[in-house]
Amino acid sequence: TKKLTDKVALVTGGSRGLGAAIAKRLADDGATVALTYTSSPQKADEVVLAIKAAGGQALALRADSANVEAVKNAVAETVKAFGRIDILVNNAGVGAFALIDEFSLDDFDRLIAVNVKGVFVATQEAVRHMGEGGRIIMIGSVNSDIMPIAGGSVYALTKGAIASFTRGLARDLGPRGITVNNIQPGPIDTDMNPADGTFADRMKSITALQRYGRSEEVADMVSYLASAEASFVTGANLKIDGGFAA
Ligand code: NDP
Repeated sequence: TKKLTDKVALVTGGSRGLGAAIAKRLADDGATVALTYTSSPQKADEVVLAIKAAGGQALALRADSANVEAVKNAVAETVKAFGRIDILVNNAGVGAFALIDEFSLDDFDRLIAVNVKGVFVATQEAVRHMGEGGRIIMIGSVNSDIMPIAGGSVYALTKGAIASFTRGLARDLGPRGITVNNIQPGPIDTDMNPADGTFADRMKSITALQRYGRSEEVADMVSYLASAEASFVTGANLKIDGGFAA
């Protein structure tokens, strides 16, 4: 049997980029997967169809992470469809980059709403349905520890919040046998940070490996943390950054 057989996973922001690769990988490992999206129903459907074509079970749910009721509803729909939640991957996230003098309050509020409050709400709701062996996996960023370019202060702030939240949550949930870990990727080739984008050469040159990472490489780490193999890993902030912070 596969290592996540009989497990139910909820992946936020699973329609594109890292989240899509994570959803597919967890399904390959045998998990039943619910994924959320906000603006790309077609992309979300494509991920679901790919999982089903490979013999897995999946469900796409529209839920803007900035909308508390929508996030609560996505957790409820997942439980209604699949009976429980064993693995929550808090992946949905947004970026906004500007120097402090020009950073708008609207962008500040949006980044906090999606990257921080959305993670809090999804986690609070999901753990109500999670038992011994449960897994909370955050997708933070190496930028919580190192922000080598100007304009990223608020993005870094939100990812720093996730790193701290992870430590505290691990203490809350440890006695219940639930682990909480934060994956901190460096530059990964996605729509958010394309390997041929404006910052790409700069980003590449900062990594030790001199390249972008692939979403599947991050999904490999999620797969490990979600599995029984990672049973003694909790409260950890784990970089997967090609040596960006080395
Ligand atoms: P993309 O922009 O490529 O994809 C974002 C995904 O999140 C999409 O599925 C999108 O859904 C979803 N999403 C965005 N906003 C919301 C929202 N308000 N509610 C629900 N879903 C939402 O981003 P990445 O895959 O690159 O990033 C995923 C995570 O990884 C983020 O948390 C990001 O901060 C983090 N990260 C990324 C790095 C990188 O270099 N790419 C590096 C370090 C961290 P839809 O298709 O419907 O818009």
